[in-house]
Amino acid sequence: MGSVQIVTTILAFAITAVAVWLAVRAVMKMVAVIRLGQPDPTRFGDPGTRTKTMLAETAGHTRMLRWSVVGAAHWFVMVGFIVLSLLVLEAYFEVVSPTGGLPLVGNWAIYGLVTEWLAILGIVSILVLIAIRLRNRPTRPGGKSRFTGSTMWQGYFVEGIILAVLIMGFVIRGFKVATDHFEYPVWAAPLSHAVGGVLPNWAAGVSVAALVKIVISMTWLIVISLNVTMGVAWHRFLAFFNIFFKRDPGANVSGLGALRPMTSQGKPLDFEEADPEKDQFGVAQVEQFTWKGLLDFSTCTECGRCQSQCPAWNTGKPLSPKLLVLSLRDHAYAKAPYLLAGGGKDLTGEEKATAAQLAHMDVLALAEAEKPLIGTAEEGGIIDPDVLWSCTTCGACVEQCPVDIEHVDHIVDMRRYQVLIESSFPSEAGVMLRNLENKGNPWGAPQNTREDWTKGLDFEVPRVGEVDDFEYLFWVGCAGAFEDRAKKTTRAVATLLNEAGVKFAILGEGETCSGDPARRIGNEFVFQMLAQQNVETLNEAFEGREKSKRKIVATCPHCFNTLGNEYGQLGGEFEVVHHTQLLAHLVATGKLTPVQPVDGGVTYHDPCYLGRHNRVFAPPREVLGSAIAGGDGASGDGGLIEMPRNSERSFCCGAGGARMWMEEKIGKRINVDRVEEAMSTGAKTVAVGCPFCSTMLNDGVNGKGAGEQVEVVDVASVLLRSVKPEQAPGDTERAPAAG
Ligand code: SF4
Ligand code: SF4
Repeated sequence: MGSVQIVTTILAFAITAVAVWLAVRAVMKMVAVIRLGQPDPTRFGDPGTRTKTMLAETAGHTRMLRWSVVGAAHWFVMVGFIVLSLLVLEAYFEVVSPTGGLPLVGNWAIYGLVTEWLAILGIVSILVLIAIRLRNRPTRPGGKSRFTGSTMWQGYFVEGIILAVLIMGFVIRGFKVATDHFEYPVWAAPLSHAVGGVLPNWAAGVSVAALVKIVISMTWLIVISLNVTMGVAWHRFLAFFNIFFKRDPGANVSGLGALRPMTSQGKPLDFEEADPEKDQFGVAQVEQFTWKGLLDFSTCTECGRCQSQCPAWNTGKPLSPKLLVLSLRDHAYAKAPYLLAGGGKDLTGEEKATAAQLAHMDVLALAEAEKPLIGTAEEGGIIDPDVLWSCTTCGACVEQCPVDIEHVDHIVDMRRYQVLIESSFPSEAGVMLRNLENKGNPWGAPQNTREDWTKGLDFEVPRVGEVDDFEYLFWVGCAGAFEDRAKKTTRAVATLLNEAGVKFAILGEGETCSGDPARRIGNEFVFQMLAQQNVETLNEAFEGREKSKRKIVATCPHCFNTLGNEYGQLGGEFEVVHHTQLLAHLVATGKLTPVQPVDGGVTYHDPCYLGRHNRVFAPPREVLGSAIAGGDGASGDGGLIEMPRNSERSFCCGAGGARMWMEEKIGKRINVDRVEEAMSTGAKTVAVGCPFCSTMLNDGVNGKGAGEQVEVVDVASVLLRSVKPEQAPGDTERAPAAG
C-alpha cells in the first residue's frame, strides 16, 4: 500500500464511520417517531401477498409508469441506485489498492457490462429527471407546478449526488484503463475505455477518484441523516415498508373504496360503549394517527403527483394533499422530542409528563406541542380548517401516490374529531346531519314519499316482502327517491330492468340513507346508526340466502360503495353492483337491445366513487357505446368522446366527501371546471353515473347558460332512449316533483 493509498484509506473509512454513526442515529430516531403512533394490528396479515405486492410495485413501478417518461427515468435511477451501492462498495477496495475490485464478481466481464450500461442509463435518466424538475420548477412563470411547496434544494441535491457518483464510477474505471489495470474488454465497457483514453497514466488516480466517490456518497448519507424529514431521499428505504404495510395487501391502489373504521388503541370503536374520556374519537393530536400514518408522512417523496390531480388545489382552494402530508410530517418530527420525553395530553386534555420530565425540554419542541392540529394560521394551527373541509375525498391523490400514502383516511380521521368532539364543521352541513338523524335522508323529505317515483310507471314495482323470488334488491337511494333529476334515473333503471325481465324489488319506506355523507364528513356516530339499521333491514330481506344470492343494484356510487365495501364492517355482506354494470350485462346478453342511435356526440364523466374508488370504468362506456351505435352492431365504447381527464385520472364533480352539502366559497367552482372540460369535447350529451355528479354538472351547465346546447343525463336514461325511444322522453316528463 503506497502513501497515497494510506491517506485515501484513512479518509474514506473515517468519513464512512461518521456517516454510518449518523445514519444509525437517524434510523433510530425515525423508528422512535413512527412508534409514537397508535397501534394498527390490521397491517401485518397476509405477509405473502404483501411481499408479492411490494416487489411487484417496486420492480414494476406500477404507479410511476403511468407517467411514462418520468416513470421510466425513475426506474433506471432506482436500479442505478442499487448498482451504485455495489460500485460504492467497490470503491472501498479501490482506495486501498488501485487494482482492487469486488471479490467474486469484480473480474467478471458480464458484471462489468451490466454495471457499465446501467450506469450509462442511470446518468441519462437522472439528467431527464433534473430537466423535468427544472421545467416544472415552481418559480417558472406561468402554469401550475406539482413541485410548489416541495423543498427544491433537496431534490436537486439528491439528483446531483447520484449524477456525481455515477460520473465518478467512469472516472475510476477510466484511470484503471489509463494505468492498464482494467479487466473488462471494450465491448463490455465502451464508455470506461473512452474515458480512459483521455485520462493521464496516473498510478494514484484510481484511489483518489475512489476516495472522491466515497466522500460524495457519505456526504449524501450525512446530509440525509441530519435531515430525517428529507423524504425525497429517505423514500428510497421507507417506500418498501410503506407499500408492504398498505391497508389492502393485494390491491394495486390501497386506501380507496371503504374508509378505515374508527379505532381506539387499534380496536374498532363501538359507539354503544365508547367513552370520549377513555377512547380516542378521531385524531386531534399528531400522535393519535396510527404508526402507519406516521410512516406515510415520513415516506412522502414530495413529488407532487397528488397535488397535480387534486380538484381542490386545481381550483384555487388551500388544500394540497402533498402540503397536508408535509405539514403533518414536519409537525410530528418537531413535536417528537416532547413526546419521547413522556409528554402529551391525555383524552381529557391533561398533561401526561411531570415537570421534571419536561424540565430540560427544547423550547421549540414545547412550542410545537402547543400548536393545535386543526387551526387557522392566527391560532398557530398545523392544518387550516379550510384545508380540512376542502377535500372531496375523490381519491385522486391516493390513486397517484407512488408510495401508497392513504390521504383520505387521514383527512377523515381529523374530520371525525372535529365533528364528534368539537362540533366544528361548516355550519351549512349541520342541516344535512340533522336531516339524517331525524328523517333518515339528507334532504329532510318525509319518509312516506320514498316511493313517489314509482307513480305513473306502466308496471308495478314490487316491494320486498310482497315478493320472495326477486333476483336483485333495487337500492333506490335518497337522491333516487327524492331528487327530481335522480328520480328520472331511478325510473329509467326500473323501466329497463322490467323490459329485460329482471326480477327486482325495492325496500320502499324501509330504506334510509346509506350513511355515506355522514361518514365522509366525519360523523361516524350517525353513519353507524344509519348503517346498522340498513344492515338489519337488508339481512332480513335476504334471510336464508347465501352471499352470492344477496344481490343489490344501486344507482348511486356512494351507496354502491358504502353497501358493498363498508357494511361488511357491520356484519352486512352483500353482492352489490352499480346499475351501469347490470345494464351492460343485460345489453351484452341480448336482454336489452338498443335500436335508436344517440346523436350529437356523448362524453362520459367518471364518478369518483364508481371509477377510482371501485375500478368500474368499462361498463358505463359499454352501455353508452351500444346506445351510440343504436343497434348498428358496434360494441365497446366506440363513438364516445373522452374528456382529457378520464377514467383513473377523472376530475371530481365537487360533491364527494359531503361537499355536496357545503358551500364552495374559495376559488373556482369545481363543477364549473369539469363542465368546461366536458363542453370542450363538443359533445351534446354529458353522461353521468351518479346523482350527485348529475346535480353538480347540471348546475355547472346552467351556470354557464349552456342548458340549450348541452344536456347532462344519466347513462341509464341514454340507454332507455335508445332501447325505448318512444317512451323515454315521456317518462322523464312524467317524473313527479321532489318531495
Ligand atoms: S381526496 Fe381528492 S380532494 Fe381530497 S386531497 Fe385527495 S385529491 Fe384532493
Ligand atoms: S403523491 Fe405521494 S409521495 Fe408524491 S407528494 Fe403526494 S403524498 Fe407525497
